[in-house]
Amino acid sequence: MANKEESVVVIGLGRFGSSLALELLRRDTQVLAIDSSPKLVQAYSSQIPHAVVADATDPEALTQLDVGMFRRAVVAIGTDQEASILATANLADLDVSDIWAKATNRQHGRILQRVGAHHVVLPEHDMGERVAHLVSGEMLDYLELGDGFVIAKTRPPRDYVGAALGETGLRAQYGVTIVAVKPQNGTFTYADRETILQYGDILVVSGPEDKVERFSRLA
Ligand code: ATP
Repeated sequence: MANKEESVVVIGLGRFGSSLALELLRRDTQVLAIDSSPKLVQAYSSQIPHAVVADATDPEALTQLDVGMFRRAVVAIGTDQEASILATANLADLDVSDIWAKATNRQHGRILQRVGAHHVVLPEHDMGERVAHLVSGEMLDYLELGDGFVIAKTRPPRDYVGAALGETGLRAQYGVTIVAVKPQNGTFTYADRETILQYGDILVVSGPEDKVERFSRLA
């Protein structure tokens, strides 16, 4: 592989790992994909040029693949926690400087951090939380950025349709900022004081979780 510094090692080609690897390739980032299943590696071989069969719990196998030369790696093994922990520890032993690991629960995540993961992702847990917000509220999309600060897609509050944002005092009243507005059949543009909200608009709103939640219920 040409530039290992800029490439990413993806260990595990399950649903998460394969989506990740394909998206990285789509974004012109080279990927070394490793999976212990020859069937899976074969299945992805036409889409992922550097896909190899290896057991990531075996330090020797990773050394032979030059994994220590890569700066970034993702452990996308979930169900087999022992394998995910061992693979993460092996990457740490090889001094990979940016290790991401997928955890199935918080406890698993804590162990992954202990053995050397720099970033732990909990896809099922995070998605469950996100869907809870979407199901229980009026939001069309929702992303928590950390420390309770969120960005969400929502509809305009009924009482403010037809008014210019600068005149509504929305930020003072609700503690949220309208970042962008997409009119029906239009595209997103940044919102400013002159933006007039219309029925059918979609808004991108940011602010503390409880405030964005409250704002979205005004629609
Ligand atoms: P997903 O939800 O993303 O489908 P999952 O959480 O069910 O994945 P697993 O099926 O446990 O995760 O693992 C994902 C992939 O990791 C599988 O394709 C499996 O073959 C591979 N894998 C498991 N153990 C190892 C290992 N020791 N070395 C390399 N690959 C492994």
